[in-house]
Amino acid sequence: MSEQFDVIVIGGGPAGYHAAIRAAQLGLKTACVDMFAGKDGKAALGGTCLNVGCIPSKALLDSSRQYWNLTHGFEVHGIKASNPSIDVGTMVGRKEKIVKQFTGGVALLFKANKIASFFGKGRLLKERAVEVTSPDGKKQVISATNVVIATGSAPIELPFARFDGKRIVDNAGALEFDSVPKRLGVIGAGVIGLELGSVWRRLGSEVTVIEALPEFMAAADADIAKAAAREFAKQGLTIELGAKLQKAEVRGNEVHLVYAGKDGEKQLVVDRLLVAVGRRAYTEGVLGDGTGVKLDERGRVVVDDHCWTGVEGVWAVGDCVRGPMLAHKGFEEGIAVAELIAGKAGHVNYETIPWVVYTEPEIAWAGKTEAQCKAEGIPHKTGSFPFAAVGRAVAMNEPAGLVKVIAHAETDRILGVHMVGACVSELIAEAVVAMEFKGSAEDLARIIHAHPTLSEAVHEAAMAVDKRAIHRAG
Ligand code: NAD
Repeated sequence: MSEQFDVIVIGGGPAGYHAAIRAAQLGLKTACVDMFAGKDGKAALGGTCLNVGCIPSKALLDSSRQYWNLTHGFEVHGIKASNPSIDVGTMVGRKEKIVKQFTGGVALLFKANKIASFFGKGRLLKERAVEVTSPDGKKQVISATNVVIATGSAPIELPFARFDGKRIVDNAGALEFDSVPKRLGVIGAGVIGLELGSVWRRLGSEVTVIEALPEFMAAADADIAKAAAREFAKQGLTIELGAKLQKAEVRGNEVHLVYAGKDGEKQLVVDRLLVAVGRRAYTEGVLGDGTGVKLDERGRVVVDDHCWTGVEGVWAVGDCVRGPMLAHKGFEEGIAVAELIAGKAGHVNYETIPWVVYTEPEIAWAGKTEAQCKAEGIPHKTGSFPFAAVGRAVAMNEPAGLVKVIAHAETDRILGVHMVGACVSELIAEAVVAMEFKGSAEDLARIIHAHPTLSEAVHEAAMAVDKRAIHRAG
């Protein structure tokens, strides 16, 4: 007889560990199966986010931002430094320590919540049994009343630019370079390409980003994308739009690229190549025969609005199901499913998921872009406000960017808030709260914002919807 649980979660990444902890909090006997191994070969909970994604990339973004300020930002303050240098080993070592602290933190939370942790690959079998294959190949079967699939995603590999872990790398590889590459090629001007491209650019690499789409940051509001592109160009990040990689060949210490650009075929030689053309659901080998769980054409587990697969007691959350591949979307789905399993009213509002790109300046938004409002025929009005007119931003020497609020033309309800500028990853939370409470632009305009703060840009943009921003002529 296999060991029996109330809930088994397959995958200990953001979506999975939130589901497991919430289920345990609700008094359910919970197990979590996870196969991620750290550099020491031991279990490392937290999935892509903690091991090779959100947290390590933020650590390097912060280190490289400090270095960039030292080499480019301090002089204006009268601060001079002679011969600044970067020790990449120390920088990467600091990142490793942070990763260990947080993956270990999840293990401690599992212990504190009495969650049984299984190290190995989980596979759903019939009748909610789960086979666990440990790294040494040993198999065991456990069972539960409910199983939550949270197996995450993996980088998409291009057949003509295969990852070799050294010269041609994915996001994980680009967090591990042992020195600053002189020339870095990046395929894809998406979130990963821009964030990791920025890290190495700030440390001195010549970075060329090759993006297939003709438009820069097509998912963002056009005004925000335009302002961001201007800042990236100033930083020396070369972004080629409408350019499709055709071939990447490693020759000695170099990678030779051939791509179809706007003006015909082009060639580029780089020292390292980061391929960041999106991620795909990781569901290979996760479903045994006859489970009844369906995968869609992109390999994602098919679920309804409540993350239910349609098979009794089987749920799926996070990157392995539809919706944006964002850790916080997975967090909320994991919590919601645990609550539904416990008979409570779990719910995720997909309309107010914030997006953040941790470049410099940062980019953040929630809700609809102006182009989406137009395409959907929604009558709307907008108000924008530049950080250059915000005292705190200028005092911080961070005048770049703007906040744009889009509201319904008749009801004034906030439809979208879009930002590019310093610390907008934090400022977006206010917009999400306002939207979650179905607030209007006038609500935001009438809320007191502390002075002097960056949040005044949100306040003024909301007032600008009604053409009454105070610190802006005309
Ligand atoms: P992405 O979808 O954000 O961007 C991929 C880009 O590559 C797209 O712009 C696409 O047009 C381009 N592309 C695709 N094929 C190409 C080709 N052959 N040549 C040139 N360009 C090509 O994907 P990503 O940056 O790899 O990120 C993967 C996932 O991880 C995303 O879903 C993202 O949301 C998530 N993520 C989020 C954050 C964050 O929230 N800050 C950070 C990192 C990753």
